[in-house]
Amino acid sequence: MAGRMGAPRPRCRLAAALPGQLAVAALLTMVNAAAAQELVRFDRAWPVMGTLVQATALAPDTATARAAVGAAHDAITLADSLMSTWNPGTELSRLNDAAGDGRWIALSPESLEVIRAAIAWAERSDGAFDPTVGPLVRAWGFHGGAGRVPPELELDSLAALVGWRGVELGGGETSGGPAGAARLAGAGMELDLGAIAKGYAADLAVNAMARAGAVGGMVDLGGQVSVFGPAPDGGAGWPIGVRDPTNPKEILGRVTVDGGSVATSGDYERFFEVDGRRYSHLIDPRSGRPAEGIAQVTVVAPSGMDADALSTTLFVLGPEEGAAFLERWAPDATAIWIRTPEGDEIGEGDVVVSGAGAGMVDIE
Ligand code: AMP
Ligand code: MG
Repeated sequence: MAGRMGAPRPRCRLAAALPGQLAVAALLTMVNAAAAQELVRFDRAWPVMGTLVQATALAPDTATARAAVGAAHDAITLADSLMSTWNPGTELSRLNDAAGDGRWIALSPESLEVIRAAIAWAERSDGAFDPTVGPLVRAWGFHGGAGRVPPELELDSLAALVGWRGVELGGGETSGGPAGAARLAGAGMELDLGAIAKGYAADLAVNAMARAGAVGGMVDLGGQVSVFGPAPDGGAGWPIGVRDPTNPKEILGRVTVDGGSVATSGDYERFFEVDGRRYSHLIDPRSGRPAEGIAQVTVVAPSGMDADALSTTLFVLGPEEGAAFLERWAPDATAIWIRTPEGDEIGEGDVVVSGAGAGMVDIE
């Protein structure tokens, strides 16, 4: 509802119950229907990847629930040890260090899977999503240190270092190097999986939980949540809070999902301001500049890795181009965009919903 003159705009509220992974969830619910009453819940939180991980496991007994959360912990530690670019010892950091010098770097199947998916999303989005955006992210000061607006000349010269076609995968996948290895074609190129690796890690973690005997569970990696199985307390699904981008300590509403993953990209996660203007870590690789006009995008999808890549892609594309993109490349996903509001608060008109579950999102 548009604000009336003189009256404060009504604060927008959001609620949605969305199918994430209906088939799998329905199956698990059937299998576990009898045992659902007797499930025990185990929760644990720990810091990793610059955020707080929260994991919940539901299992027939405490030992299994505890072991499942332990398995989730190990899975996330593994993903971080392979794909973080903050840690110089990871294979991804080694790949970046070797950029342009011709060396092939052997990679784990996990990193290769994420890099392949990242390249696929880059190709589909025609570079709105690009895992080689690293040099730009660094130039704007989002790799530590202070934020800065790089001079035009610098952005022009960095454009040559950004381009997913420069990521070469051996074994004939995209290039003739050794199988299971990769290299970056140009010196100064930098692979940054920050927009997709958390989603992969969340999926790895819930899959590890299921293998460890949990019948339901949730892993929240801070803006990236994957769930499976029956919700706690017999609820219809797992309620996941959507932050208010104008006041990220508060939530605007909840989406309830019965499986799959929820990813959020927000301009409040990392940003700086100059002359009242906000510059965020979500870069449009085509312009070399932070994407504008959008404060937050939330995506619900069956796969965490896809939800994560999509939240970033759809932030850059915006709701108009993004809706067509979603229909073509992720017809089972749902996206909620929140435009940067003109005033201090989000109004109903600032929220745009698209995709499979659009009809199930209530905005008031
Ligand atoms: P997310 O919070 O999942 O949207 O990921 C944001 C992070 O991904 C940023 O901090 C950057 O490291 C990286 N990034 C920024 N812009 C892009 C882009 N257009 N494509 C791919 N990665 C990006
Ligand atoms: Mg993302």
